[in-house]
Amino acid sequence: MSFDVVIRGGSVVTPAGTFIGDIGIKGEKISALGEDLDTTGANIIDASGHHVIPGVLDVHVHLELPFCGTVSADDYRSGTRAGARGGVTTVIDFAIPSANGSLSEAADTWMQKAEGKSLIDYTFHICITRYNEHKAQIKGMIDRGFTTFKEFMIYESEGWQSDDRALFGTLEKMREYGGMLLVHAESSRVLDELIARYHTPEMMKKYGARLHPMTRPNFVEAEAIQRAVQWSEATGGQLYIVHMSTGEGADIIRAAQGRGVPVIAETCVQYLVLDDSVFEREDGHLFACCPQLKKPKDVDRLWQGLRRGEVSVISTDTCTFTREQKAMWNGDWTKIPMGMPGLETLMPLTYTTGVLQGRLTLEEMCTKLSTNPAKIMGLYPRKGAIQIGADADLAIIHPQSTLTVSPSTMETNADWSPFEGWQLAGFSRTTLSRGDVIVDNYKVVGKEGRGRWLPRTSAGLEGSAAEAKAARVSRGPLSPMRAIDAELVQAS
Ligand SMILES: [Zn+2]
Repeated sequence: MSFDVVIRGGSVVTPAGTFIGDIGIKGEKISALGEDLDTTGANIIDASGHHVIPGVLDVHVHLELPFCGTVSADDYRSGTRAGARGGVTTVIDFAIPSANGSLSEAADTWMQKAEGKSLIDYTFHICITRYNEHKAQIKGMIDRGFTTFKEFMIYESEGWQSDDRALFGTLEKMREYGGMLLVHAESSRVLDELIARYHTPEMMKKYGARLHPMTRPNFVEAEAIQRAVQWSEATGGQLYIVHMSTGEGADIIRAAQGRGVPVIAETCVQYLVLDDSVFEREDGHLFACCPQLKKPKDVDRLWQGLRRGEVSVISTDTCTFTREQKAMWNGDWTKIPMGMPGLETLMPLTYTTGVLQGRLTLEEMCTKLSTNPAKIMGLYPRKGAIQIGADADLAIIHPQSTLTVSPSTMETNADWSPFEGWQLAGFSRTTLSRGDVIVDNYKVVGKEGRGRWLPRTSAGLEGSAAEAKAARVSRGPLSPMRAIDAELVQAS
């Protein structure tokens, strides 16, 4: 057999185990795994002394997002170039409807942001911001290839907030259609009360940006996760908690999964490597993101959750703002554009603090950064693992050699980094996307606009809609809502 590309002599991480050997690529796909593959006529990439791992899926990014009175500074061009340097080969963004817009228009808008700019493959979660109006559009979006939806329990002022009625109703539809609902879980009313309480000139002068973490105690997230889990349990609709940041959240998820609730949790790498002591810094306001960074005990609990399984995915919630944009806060923490750059450092941070510091094995890292996100977001087996027939999306990383995080040498448009000066291993020496070399010798060489939209037919852990339906039937009337359904069927 002949190949277009042969990656030779690397330590290759596959679902069947890790082996030293070659990967043969034909066109866009992995077509052989083995030792001493035929290299006649092939472009040979030497991977000896390196790990060859599946390309990373960052399933939580916001590129060119209008937010907090400005627009996030990384667009599809800079954002996906940044991702590629960190071995990211797929991004999933959030398409958010405009003030009167439909779900379909939101998808069109985000398609336009990505087309002609994205270096890597992409798709979007569809945000439901006005349930009464959008609920009739959900099925159409699934038919169009979007199987994951998102609701925010906060952001009333942005016009994005969903109440319990919306959460409950959307989860019912997820159960019916086999989709999955992603939820930003923070308790908005309590949060509003705490912010109002401290939003005085005296307090702001005294505490500055430290008021950001002070007004978002752990129970703000825990109560909202608990409530969303309740609606998932009642309806049987698949729920995915985005950017979980608290130990309390991990406890709730673990308990819910133990009861068979179809809930999955994601954390972001910043919640694994930073804590809220950064707000003591003079430039602490730069670190404001939402949810904000928590305590060292939360950091430890999230790592534990990754090892034990209740935390399934690591993403970034990339939402880049420059120093100038962050300066809009002018001493008022409620006006800080919330978010941080992240795509470029996701894998280096996870590899350095996770694998090299003994918290995760290399294989576990690949599960959390590639295989699980691909499976959960309906992109497996096309994405997410090194196996025959999959897209040749790969990252080749040196086990030890490090680069210093320095915004001036990075692809992101951010002129700062939360990790500036950190020595990180795990930047991608070579990144391939569908067989194309897009990063070579740590530099982006791929052409912008080559990335493709990825249509999907399933989501969550239940596979296809048909499998999901079979699973629901076999589960029977376990939850309160299913019991009500059963009673109604009996009564009719
Ligand atoms: Zn987000």
